[in-house]
Amino acid sequence: MDKGTPSFDAVIVGAGFSGMYMLKSLRDKLGLKVKVYEAGDTVGGTWYWNRYPGARCDSDSYIYCYTFDKQLLQEWEWSERYPEQDEILRYLEHVAKRHDLKRDIQFNTRVTGGEYDEASNLWQVHTDKGETVTARFLIPAVGTLSYANIPQYKGLEKFRGKWYHTSNFPKEGVDFTAKRVAVVGTGATAVQAIPEIAQQAKQLVVFQRTANYCVPARNGKVDPELVKARKADYDNIVKRIRESFFGQEHYFIPKSALEVSREERERELDKRWDTGGFAFWLANYQDMFFNKEANEVIADYLKRKIRATVKDPKVAEKLIPKGYYYGTKRQPLDTNYFETFNKDNVLLVDAKADGPIEEITEKGIRAGGKEYEVDVIVFATGFDAMTGPLKALNLKGRGGRTLDKEWAEGPHTYLGISVVGFPNLFAITGPQSPSVLSNMPVSIEQHVDWVTDCIDNMRKTGKTIIEATRQAQDQWVAHVNEVVNMTLMTSANSWYMSANIAGKPRAFLPYLGPEGVGGYRKKCDEVAAKGYEGFALS
Ligand SMILES: Cc1cc2nc3c(=O)[nH]c(=O)nc-3n(C[C@H](O)[C@H](O)[C@H](O)COP(=O)(O)OP(=O)(O)OC[C@H]3O[C@@H](n4cnc5c(N)ncnc54)[C@H](O)[C@@H]3O)c2cc1C
Repeated sequence: MDKGTPSFDAVIVGAGFSGMYMLKSLRDKLGLKVKVYEAGDTVGGTWYWNRYPGARCDSDSYIYCYTFDKQLLQEWEWSERYPEQDEILRYLEHVAKRHDLKRDIQFNTRVTGGEYDEASNLWQVHTDKGETVTARFLIPAVGTLSYANIPQYKGLEKFRGKWYHTSNFPKEGVDFTAKRVAVVGTGATAVQAIPEIAQQAKQLVVFQRTANYCVPARNGKVDPELVKARKADYDNIVKRIRESFFGQEHYFIPKSALEVSREERERELDKRWDTGGFAFWLANYQDMFFNKEANEVIADYLKRKIRATVKDPKVAEKLIPKGYYYGTKRQPLDTNYFETFNKDNVLLVDAKADGPIEEITEKGIRAGGKEYEVDVIVFATGFDAMTGPLKALNLKGRGGRTLDKEWAEGPHTYLGISVVGFPNLFAITGPQSPSVLSNMPVSIEQHVDWVTDCIDNMRKTGKTIIEATRQAQDQWVAHVNEVVNMTLMTSANSWYMSANIAGKPRAFLPYLGPEGVGGYRKKCDEVAAKGYEGFALS
């Protein structure tokens, strides 16, 4: 039964792209009393925290933005194809100001726990400032890549130099001039940071666990005529990305990579290579994610590019990806990444060829029995993706159940939005939704709009409790796994597969639907149209 008056209609955790729009939507569309808690000292989320050299988005800027504010789409001018972190942060600050969001956001405040109280049907939410508030709805907008993975190397506390994780760089930046620097990791972040750090550092040692397939970003100013044309066509662009597979204007070639001649295939691959960005990954032959042979001919193209760029064949060999299929890990976009390994001040230490990192010493890093002395260590080791930030909320649902226990074998959600036993809790871009496999603003806006409509519907129909049913959740989990099991994605030790975190149960984290973002949106809309099918409402 519904007792008690909550402090807020809704509490939102996080003030990145998701939390900001969720606040705008619930407050300004529905007139709800909303409070946002944010650990950082301003808005921006990812773009507040990730200040490492070279940090920028990999989605094209004309679609890496909100679409709910049509006037802003016309007014805002991005300086480049992929703007840098500070520019995206400036954009989000502008949005916050334009929509007067900050008055309902409490910064420098981390949510440390929450319990669903069955008697009052309210969430009690605790913060690190010692506050407890209550809310009818709890909306974690905590991000998917926001819980840093700091590897537990032996000896880190002994290191006499400075160390940083890329997602928590000092605001004033780090001056690498005349420094000996180590970068640990070679994922998408490292691929952005390494060429920049190499330009400053006296010496750079890169510690690689897994070599990565990189494609050129081809950043730069966008032709003003193209910008104009896109602005004139935004309504159609928005429609297209919402209905697309990946929330981007990329479409598979509707052919097998194996049915065409080598010449034709090379022409198509060259086109994508020259275009730069995600085209090579997401607009390639349609069987690339399914067929091993098709995948191999495409991977071979990228391997040839590495060999043609890296002058020392031994170094090139270490940089050639091995043991997994192309495209099954997050695609890094590079600007002079492989070229950087031709520099005299750059050394590559590969876990397989040279030996893995054994420990951090007072003076540096010991790997393969050899000590590499450095002044600064940069951990570009990524995140406990998707489930990490949600589990860190320490939530207790019905009967005190925890996400740790519910997700002991990987995430179990309904549509990536809701979890059985956690009523009135809506995750934005949660596990088992397209999320990190999409251009995220598209998925964020879809979830926020869906949740807003759902809450509005509940109010209009006099309902106060919504909770996924066990049957709907089980079916969704089975569907998520069935679809991805048809692809090569599950064969990689990727963070998509939870494989980057020791002890994390091996499970595919996002949803790779048969029709991607567009099909998923249709499914969510159908669920709503059928009176929130798969949810129990009371
Ligand atoms: C380096 C990098 C590059 C990226 N590039 C792209 C790209 O090109 N294209 C793309 O689509 N996506 C990209 N992403 C993904 C990116 O995270 C999303 O695009 C988007 O910014 C997510 O917004 P969000 O609001 O959901 O989450 P976030 O931006 O992660 O914001 C979550 C916020 O929640 C706060 N928070 C978390 N837990 C708590 C708590 N317990 N209490 C209080 N506050 C809390 C955090 O401090 C954070 O500010 C990138 C991510 C990274 C890390």
